[in-house]
Amino acid sequence: MEKHTGLGSNRSLDNRSEVLSVAKRYSQVACDYPNFSRADGCDLCDKNEFRLIAQRDRRGGPLDTVVCGHCGLVSHAKLPDRVELQAYYAAQYREQYHGQRTPRPHRVIRAWKAGQYYLKLLRPYLPAGGQVCEIGAGLGGNVKAFAMAGYRAWGIEPGHEYASYGRRYLQADIRLGQLEELPRQNDLDAVLLIHVIEHLRSPRTALEHIHGMLRPQGQLYVECPNLDVPHSAPHRCFHLAHVYNFTPETLVCLARRCGFRVQHELNSGGHVSLLLEKTASTSWHVEPRAADRTLQGLHRFSRWGYYSRFEYWAKRMHRDVTFLGHRIGASLRVRHLQQRLARDARLSSHRPADRANDAQPAPILAMPQS
Ligand SMILES: [Zn+2]
Repeated sequence: MEKHTGLGSNRSLDNRSEVLSVAKRYSQVACDYPNFSRADGCDLCDKNEFRLIAQRDRRGGPLDTVVCGHCGLVSHAKLPDRVELQAYYAAQYREQYHGQRTPRPHRVIRAWKAGQYYLKLLRPYLPAGGQVCEIGAGLGGNVKAFAMAGYRAWGIEPGHEYASYGRRYLQADIRLGQLEELPRQNDLDAVLLIHVIEHLRSPRTALEHIHGMLRPQGQLYVECPNLDVPHSAPHRCFHLAHVYNFTPETLVCLARRCGFRVQHELNSGGHVSLLLEKTASTSWHVEPRAADRTLQGLHRFSRWGYYSRFEYWAKRMHRDVTFLGHRIGASLRVRHLQQRLARDARLSSHRPADRANDAQPAPILAMPQS
């Protein structure tokens, strides 16, 4: 498996002309950022030394975004209320950003493919047959893939319709609920947090909670968009639903503060992709000029420079072809998949060993009504 060459924002700066170009752009924009203060300190370092770096989201709507002048963590200038955010993900998120409350066939195919992908990515590192929990499991493609590979896999999902769909049609153990409702029993082998941490009001609170759920040396796989690449054109980086934007450096710093060490830095589509291990230590520090390195990554490309790269067009073509592949015959493929999974579930329920497993304690959280 390919790995990045190291952490930090200098990873891609492997020729002198690019370094000089970035330095020039950075020096032009840094002095333009006004200071900003807010009631909430930085989730990573607790400081309150922000700079306002953007006032529009990727759709051109108003959205103030700040960088912490101490640690470089990028976040919304105004953090959402915790209760409002929970209600939003329980009732509105899927409809607002996916245009649907219940998953369409191509989304089911995409989730199923994603499950195969993450199983292949992580299986070499996770203990066989271990207990794996996914936070923000969606309709359960990942959970089902791990369960079929022999893991004791389950997940939680705040959206009622997606949780219900996964349970009913993918036979996946998806429970309706939020992370903070789960007990800290120090018994899980692994937790998956895939494209979720950027949506949370306090990633630090979330990682500390997960730390308490894992057994000693338990593993956390966390993946999110990488502001250091960056993942979008400069004017399209910020997203209302993404309360935080991480670079590898800021996410590693946060993980260390919450009691994790980096076991592996994986390569998953250019995202920040870290396999972390629970430790008894919370030793951490902020590197000098951390905020400057976040800004360097953010301004690596001009708008023209971003769109004129071969890598952009190759990635876009691959994405479009993949997306088309998910849509072709999706309804029929989903029907066949549902029938196969339902048949497998009926067969397994007749095996004595599986009936014994069914007698295990009931799910911790209330199940959605399907
Ligand atoms: Zn900070």
